Amino acid sequence: MSNFVYQRPDDLYPVQEKEPVSGACSACGTEELARYPVLSEGGWFMVVKCQACLHSESREKWHRLGHIVLHTDTIPHHDDERPE
Ligand SMILES: [Zn+2]
Repeated sequence: MSNFVYQRPDDLYPVQEKEPVSGACSACGTEELARYPVLSEGGWFMVVKCQACLHSESREKWHRLGHIVLHTDTIPHHDDERPE
């Protein structure tokens, strides 16, 4: 049994799809916002970035291994329900 939820892509050159987001960039005013995952020094983030000036409109923590999701990461944990 594989521990991978996300299977290896079949295509030779996988391409990151960018989801168009409506609205204007708060830095340059261009209406070219897109949502997609990025890897930076702090790990993987799901960002909404202006495609003209690369200003980040939003930046939230994403999966710890990016596109690779392990079944063990999908097991619910109940930190909030731990008795004190
Ligand atoms: Zn911009």
